Formats: sequence, structure tokens, C-alpha cells
Amino acid sequence: MKILLVEDDRLLGDGIRAGLMQAGFAVDWAQDGRAAELALSGEAYDAVVLDLGLPRLSGMELLARARAARNAVPVLILTARDTVPDRIAGLDAGADDYLVKPFDLGELQARLRALLRRAGNQAEPVLSHGGFRLDPAARSVTREGRPVELSAREFAVLHALLLNAGRVLSKAQLEEKLYGWGEEIESNAVEVFVHHLRRKLAPDLIRTVRGVGYMIPKAAE
Ligand code: CA
Repeated sequence: MKILLVEDDRLLGDGIRAGLMQAGFAVDWAQDGRAAELALSGEAYDAVVLDLGLPRLSGMELLARARAARNAVPVLILTARDTVPDRIAGLDAGADDYLVKPFDLGELQARLRALLRRAGNQAEPVLSHGGFRLDPAARSVTREGRPVELSAREFAVLHALLLNAGRVLSKAQLEEKLYGWGEEIESNAVEVFVHHLRRKLAPDLIRTVRGVGYMIPKAAE
């Protein structure tokens, strides 16, 4: 899951980025409104964490522009201004949720998981597929009730494929979900993660769609 973090406060941004990465999100961090606008126009994010007071372009203006451009990415606004009119304005400008600073990192992570569920039209917090269950909050995977040990990136690949069951994700789309700016991508990393997942979970769970990418077929009801 790839998050665009937009925050100009270095110390706070650093802490949020570390907290989100620890929770298994890949994070791109933009430190002003224009950098964020550029990032949004070039990449598909699963969610945006948006500070409102930003240099060069305010968070509110950025949000209004993104919505005007029909970008439907889920947006959670962060605001230090704990006033009701600010929150109303943010939600009416197209934000999906908000947190008032200072906030708890655990709450931010949980709210993002809830936003991602809603964006995926998924009511259940735990994803299940055949005998497999993936719990994004606990970051655990079980097969027939038994835990399966996965690395953070193997987990992220499986999570993305399960959220998009029945749809093919290209290698580039999976890479986008795994790596933030400045993180080095090994050229065959996605193939290696898929290989490991097949070995640890089931050889036929993830299908290769030749020349296109990978998919997990929709589970039989
Ligand atoms: Ca700020």
C-alpha cells in the first residue's frame, strides 16, 4: 500500500514516515504543496496524508485541485487548527477523514486501514481467500488457521493482490506499492516475492498473466 505523505514539518514528517513504514506502508514524502501536486499527477497512491498549512500551495487548495481533476484518492487531513470550521471545510473540500495534531501514530495507521477498506468496498477488516486469511492490522497471514511467516514486502505483495482479487496488477504497479522515494528497487524483486509467496502459501494461489502481471483469482463463494 502506497501512501503520499504531505507534511512540511521535518521532525513530524520524519516520525510519521517511519511509523507508516513500520506498519508496512510504502511512503513518498512531499514537503510542500507543489511537490505533492506533482507526485499526485504522476503516481497512483492508495491514500494521502495531508497537512493543511504548507508552503507553495496550501493543503486545502491541493485537495480542491485534486478533486477538480477527478482524482478520487482517499485523503486524510492533518490539522493543528482544532477548530470545527476547519474540519468542516476540509471534509467539504473532499477529504475523507481527519486527525487533529498531536495525534497517536497507531490511530493514524488504523484510520488509514479503514480508509483503504472503504476505498476497496470491503466491509470486513480481515481479507480471506480460500483457506487463507490476511489481517492488515495484526500484519498476520494464516493458512487453515496456522500462521505463515512472511517478510514485510511479501506481505505487501499478497495484500495488494488480495485487495485486487480478480484483477491483474503489473510488475510496475506492484513495485509502486512496495517502495517509497529513495528506496532502491531491485529489478527482479517482485518476481522473487511472488516466488516466495507461492512456496510459503500455495503454488497456484498467484497466477502469472504472461506479459501483463500477476493476479489472484476471485475466491469461489
Ligand atoms: Ca504545516
